[in-house]
Parts: sequence; structure tokens; C-alpha cells
Amino acid sequence: MKVLVPVKRVIDYNVKVRVKADQTGVDLANVKMAMNPFCEIAVEEAVRQKEKGAATEVVAVSIGPAQAQETLRTALAMGADRAILIQTDQDLEPLAVAKVLAAVITEEAPDAVIMGKQAIDGDNNATGQMLSALLDWPQAVFASEIVLSAGSAKVTREIDGGLQTVDVALPAVITADLRLNEPRYASLPNIMKAKKKPLDVKELSAVGVDTAPRLKVVKVAEPPKRSGGVKVESAAEIVSNLKSNGVI
Ligand code: AMP
Repeated sequence: MKVLVPVKRVIDYNVKVRVKADQTGVDLANVKMAMNPFCEIAVEEAVRQKEKGAATEVVAVSIGPAQAQETLRTALAMGADRAILIQTDQDLEPLAVAKVLAAVITEEAPDAVIMGKQAIDGDNNATGQMLSALLDWPQAVFASEIVLSAGSAKVTREIDGGLQTVDVALPAVITADLRLNEPRYASLPNIMKAKKKPLDVKELSAVGVDTAPRLKVVKVAEPPKRSGGVKVESAAEIVSNLKSNGVI
């Protein structure tokens, strides 16, 4: 069983994000970048499925700038077998990413796609769902447990009321939630080994899909500064504070 894992290079989650002075976006100059944490969970899951014998090959795919090769090398060091970079300096919207992934998937014909439920830069939480629609494959999103077997996957999903278990026929798109697993750190020997694993680079233009933007960013701004909290003596005082501040 071949598992394909799309991974995105994003600002490292430890970095305090700064908005550009002209409010057109986030300042990426000299900022530490890393693999999107939900994509790390997806890679970890695919590698665990391989270690369990449920998967036989794990292919990591990224759409992004030349530096996204580093992100793919991390996936390879974690245990992916090979990687594909669709290279572009354009910042693609989820629909465009889904279209490019669909084209790669048509060529690669994996049995399952395991990907992050969301990228922590745009927080879109949209690409997996769009990809499943474009491929006309079933989707199981927000997975906290995945059991792969021949032809189907049993996925436990985190939903508002608790946990839901669904059976999806393969091929399917599965997106990873936070509690699916704890990703491993790539060890030094595995980082060295990953340098020798295959990483194919293809220009976005060679994929031949329409990636023109459909959305217009009006402005990007910092969230309002939080005002300090107040200490109260009783529940009654909380209620009266909330009332006087117009919250309730
Ligand atoms: P989003 O819908 O943007 O929140 O992203 C959800 C998931 O889609 C991510 O966790 C990745 O698995 C995948 N994804 C989004 N953008 C890219 C990209 N540029 N390259 C590869 N995978 C991506």
C-alpha cells in the first residue's frame, strides 16, 4: 500500500509572527521555517503504518520554494521513502494546492493520502477536503486513530461531541488531528541517510493546472492587544463584571 503525504513549509511555530508594515502579509525575511506541525503528525503516521506492515511506501510531496527541499528532507529523515517537490515561489491558495496535489496523485496512484488537517500559517483547514472532492475520493478528516487494511481504513475522528469512527473505502483522503500521535525527532544517522533518498523536483508550470488566485487579501493585521485580567472575590462579582462590560 502506497501512502502519499503532502507537507507544507511554514513559519516555525515557536516564532513570534510579525506583520509587514504595509499590512500585505507576514514578514518572512530571516524567519525560521519548519514543517507544519500537523504535516509532521501525518508523516509520523504514514511511517508508523509502514513500520506496522500496513503500508509499503511513503511518498512526501511539497509545493513551495526551493527551500521546501529541507522540509522534504525532514520527512525523509523521519522515514518517508522518497519525496517530490513541485517548485514555485507563488503562495498558493488551498484550491490551487489541492489541484496540484490531485495532478501528482493521478500520476502516483497512492492507496491513501494522509495529510495535516490544517497549516498553521493560513489556518485554512481546507486543502484535504478540496482534494477529496477533486479526486472524488472519500474523506475522513481530523483523525485521532487510523487503522489501514486492504481496501479500507477505519478512522476515529475528533468531533464536537466526542469521537466518531468511520470506515472509508480506499483510496481516501485522511487528515491528521493533534492527538493522532507524537512525531519522532529525526536522528542524526537518519538525517544523513535521508540525504541519499530520492527527491524529485518539478516546476509548477510543468504540472499544467490553473493556480490563479481566487481570493484577494484585503489586509493583514496583528490581533488586538490583550488587556490585563482582574481578580474577583466571588462568582457574583464575575457575573456583575460581565454585565457591566456588556458581555452578558
Ligand atoms: P490548509 O488547508 O492550508 O490548512 O492545509 C492543510 C494541509 O494541506 C496541510 O497540513 C498539508 O498537508 C497540505 N498542504 C497545504 N499547503 C501545502 C503545500 N504548499 N504543499 C504541500 N501540502 C500542502
